[in-house]
Amino acid sequence: MSKLIDSYNRSIDYLRLSVTDRCNLRCVYCMPAEGIPLMDFHDILRYEELLRIATIAARHGITKLRITGGEPLVRKGIAEFIKELARLPGVEDLSLTTNGVLLKEFASSLKKAGLTRVNVSLDSLRPERFNKITRGDFLNNVLEGLEEAEMAGLNPVKINCVVIKEFNDDEILDFAELTKKKPYHIRFIEYMPFEAGAAWDRDKCISSSQIMEKINSLQNLVPLVNLEKRTGPARRYKFHDAIGEIGFISPVSDHFCGSCNRLRLTADGKLRTCLFSDDEIDIKNVMRGGCTDRELEDLLFNAVRKKPERHHISDNIFKKCSRTMSFIGG
Ligand code: SAM
Ligand code: SF4
Repeated sequence: MSKLIDSYNRSIDYLRLSVTDRCNLRCVYCMPAEGIPLMDFHDILRYEELLRIATIAARHGITKLRITGGEPLVRKGIAEFIKELARLPGVEDLSLTTNGVLLKEFASSLKKAGLTRVNVSLDSLRPERFNKITRGDFLNNVLEGLEEAEMAGLNPVKINCVVIKEFNDDEILDFAELTKKKPYHIRFIEYMPFEAGAAWDRDKCISSSQIMEKINSLQNLVPLVNLEKRTGPARRYKFHDAIGEIGFISPVSDHFCGSCNRLRLTADGKLRTCLFSDDEIDIKNVMRGGCTDRELEDLLFNAVRKKPERHHISDNIFKKCSRTMSFIGG
């Protein structure tokens, strides 16, 4: 079967599926306090539709799937859906991004369903600040969820921490130190420009090199050779005496577009070939119009051909994306 290769010779083997726009938190950088106008249920792809797209994608070289949202764990039947995805021939890595609020409850059934690993978003280890960032009082639930994920064997447990200046940058060392006690992979992510409750501005961004400098002032980080077959965009390090790892994801200061291998499907069935481009290809309506698998394949190949060479968030002309992260899935 032919593989998905874009016009810049990048091999596309990673599909992110957003399964809902609903969420049980209201993170300040992602949503306004009152939430966002929700999609009609009818507009959200049904599991069998998602499965059909994933099956076709897997036939053409997608080996890595990630479930995201909104908050994927609020969608009913998520573990059963994951079980179906895990059965697809060719899928080697099946992961999920969650805010962790419901993880304690779901970790073991997700693992049994065939989920490989989990990324938990956590920007503060301090209860009051956690409440302020997420507008929800659930830090303990998330911490318990992390424990449960580790026990269930969803390895590695990764923590995504978005760092924002004068907001949570004084916790960088606390997160880094956590890797000495727990086998977590902490991934510091630069704050990205999206239309959300809080207005993004460049001055609130802290670059990965600034974060790294801060950590090195505590103790030198040792670079890790990327031994895994698929390592993603993070540059990986560890403290020599740590059981966990530290990674840096730098979409703003140092884009990794040259090696981008991703496609994204929004909860309402739009294919996005770049996180930061509002160009979307409607799959849902074509599918609901009764298209054949062959036609779906053509759509996928055409989308991949149009994948842009790079994003422009560091250019002066850049316009913030009009969809929020909760629609796109991060
Ligand atoms: N609700 C799940 C969660 O929070 O993990 C999955 C969806 S959420 C949109 C996916 C990721 O996007 C989270 O790790 C979140 O921190 C990140 N995110 C949202 N807005 C962001 C922004 N403006 N810059 C950087 N990361 C962002
Ligand atoms: Fe919800 Fe995730 Fe957005 Fe936070 S980042 S509001 S948890 S979708």
